[in-house]
Amino acid sequence: MKQSKLFTKTKKEAPKDEVSVNAQLLIRAGFVDKLMAGVYTFLPLGLRVMKKIENIIREEMNAIGGQELNMPSLHPKENWEITGRWKSMDDDVYKTKDGENREYILAPTHEEVIVPLAKKFINSYKDLPLAVYQFQNKFRKEKRAKSGLLRGREFLMKDLYSFHLDEKDLDNYYEKAEKAYENIWKRTEIADRTYETFASGGSFSKYSHEYQTVTSAGEDIIYICEKCHLAVNKEIVTDVENKCPKCGAILDKTEKSVEVGNIFKNKDKYTKPFNLAVKNEKGEDKILLTGCYGIGLQRLLGTIVEIYNDEKGMIWPEAVAPFKVHLISLGKDEEAEKIYQELLANNIEVLFDDRDLRAGEKFADSDLIGIPYRIVVSEKSLQAGGVEVKKRSEEKSEIIEVEKLISYLG
Ligand code: ATP
Ligand code: MG
Repeated sequence: MKQSKLFTKTKKEAPKDEVSVNAQLLIRAGFVDKLMAGVYTFLPLGLRVMKKIENIIREEMNAIGGQELNMPSLHPKENWEITGRWKSMDDDVYKTKDGENREYILAPTHEEVIVPLAKKFINSYKDLPLAVYQFQNKFRKEKRAKSGLLRGREFLMKDLYSFHLDEKDLDNYYEKAEKAYENIWKRTEIADRTYETFASGGSFSKYSHEYQTVTSAGEDIIYICEKCHLAVNKEIVTDVENKCPKCGAILDKTEKSVEVGNIFKNKDKYTKPFNLAVKNEKGEDKILLTGCYGIGLQRLLGTIVEIYNDEKGMIWPEAVAPFKVHLISLGKDEEAEKIYQELLANNIEVLFDDRDLRAGEKFADSDLIGIPYRIVVSEKSLQAGGVEVKKRSEEKSEIIEVEKLISYLG
């Protein structure tokens, strides 16, 4: 992509009403645009990052047998009356009516659609276990929308739902999902500060698990056991229960954190109201059990920005960066164009700053956007024998011969 053609331009100042670091940087760099509080447009650079995150999650969900589908955002009132959530979630959801006074909800979550949908296709215990998932925009009336992308009123979520004949099968799948989640945090480079966290489980299991990432931008507080790399959410820590659920150590270290994902055993909470049942091997009717597994992609993206930045801008981990290379020409457009073509021919994702601007402006934009490798083609670099390569995460730079560049980046 040539930067002279890029839809967006960087900004010197962030909007005054945006207080969070993630939104300030993402807006200034042209990754997102704020439509109103809690609602953002993903611009070309931001969408590239979102798609990288989405693909990592997709690969991990497919690896545990998830089948991708896509459910609508607009739901009929009737489904939500069956579970009782039309009333109980009234304060948290956007509702709307059509010209004939039919009522709808803009979906904050999808149990009310996936369960009756599964009922159409699960006819026998032989169809189980089953797991389906989607990447889909949710709508919620969040009261505080001050955390930028971390708390949107419309936001992209991955939600996976699993269906089981018995608890053993649910437990077994739940463990697979835990491993898949760990892989996702590793691949997005937040694993070392992301803790599987015991949280309240609602009425059907003692605990649910949240995945909490330590950052000062977080709205949650967790008690951490460094030894087990586990945590307990403050909301369930009492005087008697401030112990590590695994090793029993007293937990006294707290951190602010953000919940990037969570997993729940809902058991029959949603299958019962919809009477989703099949006959087991003995011919007995069994209500199915479900698990529900969420990740907020927009929140994860914002969390990565909160962790990886400095006073100059963002510092993207390579696996989710919008491009691998930021190629910058300083008055050497012909030489740079050749390198650009070669990078493209070798499938290396590159943003080529071919604009007619001063070096200082190009470098400032490059630091703000935060692409992992900055490659400068200038009179000086060519005289020194090649191009100047600098990692965004490091101060030092080195000269690499043009012929060796592809294998260097390989
Ligand atoms: P929170 O306690 O932060 O409000 P939640 O318990 O309501 O989160 P879930 O309903 O379980 O969250 O949603 C699954 C995932 O979706 C969360 O783990 C989080 O990553 C993400 N998420 C939830 N609410 C938002 C939001 N308002 N903006 C962005 N992501 C969100
Ligand atoms: Mg919430």
